[in-house]
Amino acid sequence: MFGAIELGGTKIVCGVGTETGDIIRHVFIPTTDPKETMTSVFEFFEGETIEALGVGTFGPVDLNRDSETYGHITTTPKVKWANYPLYEVLKAHFQVPIVLDTDVNGAAFGEMTFGGATDVSSCLYMTVGTGIGAGAVIDGELVHGMGHPEMGHMIVRRHPEDMSNGVCPYHGDCLEGLASGPAIEARHGKKAHLLDPTDPAWDIEADYLAQALVNIALILAPERMILGGGVMKQSHLFPKVREAFRQKMNGYIQNPYVNELETYIVPPTLGDFAGLKGALALAIKKGDVVHAGR
Ligand code: ADP
Ligand code: ZN
Repeated sequence: MFGAIELGGTKIVCGVGTETGDIIRHVFIPTTDPKETMTSVFEFFEGETIEALGVGTFGPVDLNRDSETYGHITTTPKVKWANYPLYEVLKAHFQVPIVLDTDVNGAAFGEMTFGGATDVSSCLYMTVGTGIGAGAVIDGELVHGMGHPEMGHMIVRRHPEDMSNGVCPYHGDCLEGLASGPAIEARHGKKAHLLDPTDPAWDIEADYLAQALVNIALILAPERMILGGGVMKQSHLFPKVREAFRQKMNGYIQNPYVNELETYIVPPTLGDFAGLKGALALAIKKGDVVHAGR
């Protein structure tokens, strides 16, 4: 049995599951202050025997193994969690290898292990929700570098009809500032799910997402791009994003992946358990490696 935790800004999902990705037991816990939240997390795992624990967390989180603050949540706007030593708190409680990564890196890894990317060796997972974040697996390995990627804050070109300021507290009109759920709401004056599918708002949204995906295709060359999160529940967005991607790419990259956009830019297949199964996949596949290295 393996343990999995998906730590989100509004809720935490804990689960125990098998090597084949079946979740046997799970619980939802509201994210309140760290002490109260973690007490509930530990209660869930009481009496469970797990071989390793996988954790996918909201970020930013320090993933530099040489850092003094490895595994700390860093500059989050969720003030109670800013600088929270997540890894140390988990390490002090669990006597098993702990594999920590971002929620989106976890989701990318989960889709590759159990979901819609098991037939390829690289993929991108992007969530478009309250924020925008993305994780990637390239040649079977999660992309880290100096920390974890922050693709949600890439700079995009303004849509000519977009007069909004952008809502990112750091950059204003970065991708997250212009295309997250709150950005749509700020621009159009109502919640994204209340906008009609025919509203021109969605063309602007598709334009920004397609810019991001073209940039990512050019930089990382993933063999599949999976888009999840609340905003992507608008399934009519997928054809719009694919068409905008096709126009912006303009035939520059051609290969069997990019030529078939219906199977290149796709929704997640793991549904509501994407994050949890991602964390489970981290525990199963990376538990031994982490244990050896630290
Ligand atoms: P979070 O990012 O907070 O983990 P979600 O991925 O559900 O959670 O994202 C929430 C955001 O997505 C909100 O800004 C909300 O307006 C938007 N959203 C949620 N459901 C829908 C929907 N069906 N259609 C469009 N936007 C949605
Ligand atoms: Zn930003």
